[in-house]
Order: sequence, then structure tokens, then C-alpha cells
Amino acid sequence: MEPHFLENFVQATFDAIGGAEGRTLVLGGDGRHFNDRAAQVILRMAAANGAARIIVGQDALLSTPAASNLIRLRGADGGLIMSASHNPGGIDADFGLKFNTANGGPAPEGVTGAIHARTLDIRAYRILEAQDIDLSTPGERRLGQMVVEVVDPVADYAALMARLFDFDAIRALFAGGFTLRFDAMHAITGPYARAILEGELGAAPGSVVNATPLPDFGGGHPDPNPTWAKELHDLMLSPAGPDFGAASDGDGDRNMILGRGIYVSPSDSLAVMAAQAHLAPGYRAGLRGVARSMPTSGAVDRVAARLGIPCHETPTGWKFFGNLLDAGMATICGEESFGTGSDHVREKDGLWAVLMWLNILAATGRPVKALMAEHWARHGRNYYSRHDYEAIETARAEALVDDLRARLATLPGTRAAGLVVAAADEFAYDDPVDGSHSAGQGLRIRFEGGARAVFRLSGTGTEGATLRVYLEALETDPARLERDAQEALAPVIAAAEAIAGITRHTGRTAPDVIT
Ligand code: ZN
Repeated sequence: MEPHFLENFVQATFDAIGGAEGRTLVLGGDGRHFNDRAAQVILRMAAANGAARIIVGQDALLSTPAASNLIRLRGADGGLIMSASHNPGGIDADFGLKFNTANGGPAPEGVTGAIHARTLDIRAYRILEAQDIDLSTPGERRLGQMVVEVVDPVADYAALMARLFDFDAIRALFAGGFTLRFDAMHAITGPYARAILEGELGAAPGSVVNATPLPDFGGGHPDPNPTWAKELHDLMLSPAGPDFGAASDGDGDRNMILGRGIYVSPSDSLAVMAAQAHLAPGYRAGLRGVARSMPTSGAVDRVAARLGIPCHETPTGWKFFGNLLDAGMATICGEESFGTGSDHVREKDGLWAVLMWLNILAATGRPVKALMAEHWARHGRNYYSRHDYEAIETARAEALVDDLRARLATLPGTRAAGLVVAAADEFAYDDPVDGSHSAGQGLRIRFEGGARAVFRLSGTGTEGATLRVYLEALETDPARLERDAQEALAPVIAAAEAIAGITRHTGRTAPDVIT
């Protein structure tokens, strides 16, 4: 909000893509504080830079997946998305602006690097002197020579969902009394979920809660996980819960899935989708492949092996999936951090995941809990949890990782808390599409029997570093598939501590957040 800051970034973005002259761009955001003001600045700058057309969501709203869809549908040269994803909004909270390229996906590092470089040597920016343009109703208007096309933010996205999923079967499910609670967390998916779930599919009015996007997300943290969507989580785990529960984040690309009496981990959700996607019309021909981020559990790998399709393991970050999707090497992708999606857009997509689940539940007629039990009985269960140690002094966090990295080669064959290390390495990725190499993507320790511990650092800065420890254990014994995850993972948790010395390095005896 400081003078010239946004303007600098927008001009640098236009310059980095070879100018806005003659371009068609998409613009929208998640409705957080400053969304409306930033949109007017961006529109006046696009007009002054000679853009031909800007397609903007009504009231400057667009979910991230809907923006990705519009870029692709309209053959736009790219899009500007105003959001800070799952981070809080409000005058003292977060705001962000990102540029997506013509494939609908996040700008690759070459583009973001060029934008950043340009912000450092920029001398001037172009902006039209004009009144605010009316974005409150759909239709075309002019700003200088540029056409501003205001569109219903939901319509094209809803039409895409109706092509991918069996809406008749889901309508019949709701007509039969199936109950749902979707928590939009006062963020962008409210209007989408209301129109699609309640409007088109017949979920009972009021099934979508916290459905009006608010500039401060109601003071909440629009992050769909058991911590920040606790009310929904607790309701679903009580006998009073509806048949199905879900939540999405600030800009609509993340999701959390629950059934009555059960929380479905994102890794398991991805595996179930891969196993059952053929039940949805858009995926009836089967999947070309699947992809998961490295720290995501191996549950989807087991499904892919059974289906005889490739499973790609990528570094964390949706952009790595974009290349695989563009190349037709994967159809469905997912991350442990509550992101799933497919080749229908080039972003993860929260409501898409909810509709995929509803399609699967409608087609199988099974409750979520029974569906999970059957999935685990067939494929085995990858018990999974992530332990986050937050705001560790950066030097101590780095010392832990450096120390562990130095010992990786000596670990195979050694015993830790009753487990034997089978392999240990630092994950690196060679992109099979563009050949780029990404090093230093996390320390992996695999144990005999299929268990795994992964260590990664993130968020280095003034608040220190966050150490993320990803824990996984494979269980195929039919009698041991319904255990508490933390209890089932106790040996891996102990082995991770014995090998990495988390307490010794950080002084912490327990994680701050367990998901
Ligand atoms: Zn997001």
C-alpha cells in the first residue's frame, strides 16, 4: 500500500513479459483487504501500457483455479491474481500479487526472476489518469483504448466442473438426503460453492457456511486444515456431523476432506482420487499418470503401481506439476499441504477436489469412512503425519540439517529406535520436460519395511526457520489399519529423533503443529 510499490511491481511484470501492448490479460483476486483498490491501479496501468483487453471477475473477484481456467479458456496472454493464498487478510495482514502465464499456471522461475530483476532498475511506470471503473456488473466498458470485460467469476468455472463430473449422480445423492458442510472460511470459494453445491447440485441451503468473502476473512486464518478449520474438523469427528465435510482456503486452491467420524489426510485423498477418478466423466478414459510432491506419502504410488501408470515424484511447489500436465505425463497431482488438482487447469483446485469426492461417493454409494477402510484393505495404509517446529533460531535449524546431511552416507544399515535405515539421501529433481535441475529439496531417510522420515526447512527470515518433519509408515496387516496415526507412527517418530537429534539441536521436545 506504500506509494509506488504496487505500481513498480505491475510495471516490472509488464516489462518482464515483453510489454502489455496488445495483450489480453485476466485479473481477479480473493477479495482480501486492498483487492478492490489494487484492481483499479492495475487496470489503469494496463490501459496506459496499451493492453487490448482485460477480463476481470465481477467486483475484482476470481478464485485462483477460476483465473487459471479463464486464462486458458480465453487464450489470454496471462493473468494477475491478487491473493496471499491461505494467509490472513486485513490492513495489517497479507496481500500478494502473482502473475500466471498463458498456460494458466504460475510463472516459472525464469519469469519471476525477470520480474524481480526489473523491479530493481525500473525508472518509471505508466498509469492512466481516470476515475475508478465500475466492476459491479458484468459487461464491457472502456478505459482509454482498452476493453474492460467484467465477467461473472463463477459461470465459466461451474461449466467446466459440470463437464468433468457427473452432476446428475451428485444431485441424486443430495436428493436422497446426503448431508454436507462446506466451510468457505469467509474467503473466495463461498460464491462458487453456493452456486455449484447448493444452486446446481441441490445441497440443502446453509450447507455452505462462512460463504461471504470478507476483506479480513472474519479475522480468521483461511487455511483448510484441522488447526484452522477446527470447528468443522470437530463437528465431523462427532456423531452429529454431516455425511461429508470440506473446506477451502483464501484463494480457493487448497482443500480439506472429511467424512463423518474420519479425517482424510491429503496424501490419502490423492490416492483415493487416483484409484476412483474413472468414476467421473472427465476421467473415464483413465489417468496418463499421477504426480506427488516428494514429502507427500507413497499412498498414491501404490495405486499407480496397481493401475500400471507412472507416478512422478517432484519437489514441493505446484509449478513442477505444470510441466508434467502440459506434457500429458500426468493427469492428477497432489501435495501433502492440502493441494490436489488435475490437468483441467494449471493450479491446484479446492472445489474440484470436493466435487471429485462427491462424484466418487455418489458413484460408489459408500460413506467416506467405509470407502477409506476398503481403500486401505486393498492398497495398504500409509500412516502419515507432519510435525512442524516453528520459529527455531535459523542457525540452530541449519546446524541440524547440515549435521544430518553430513552423516547421510553413513546411515544405511544402522539401527535407530528399533528401525533399520535402508537408504538415505538428499532429494534432487531433474525435470523430465524442461531438463532443469532442482537440488537440496529435502533429506530423506527410508527404513526397512516401508517407513520414511523426511526433513525440510522453510520460512527462514526474521521469525527464524520452520523445521518440517514428514513421517510415514506402511501398514498392510488387515488387523492394524484403523489405528491412531501418531500411535502407529511412534517408532518412526522415535527413529527420526534418534537420527536427527531434534531436541539436542533445537531445545524443543515436541512439535508446535501436528497435521
Ligand atoms: Zn491458496
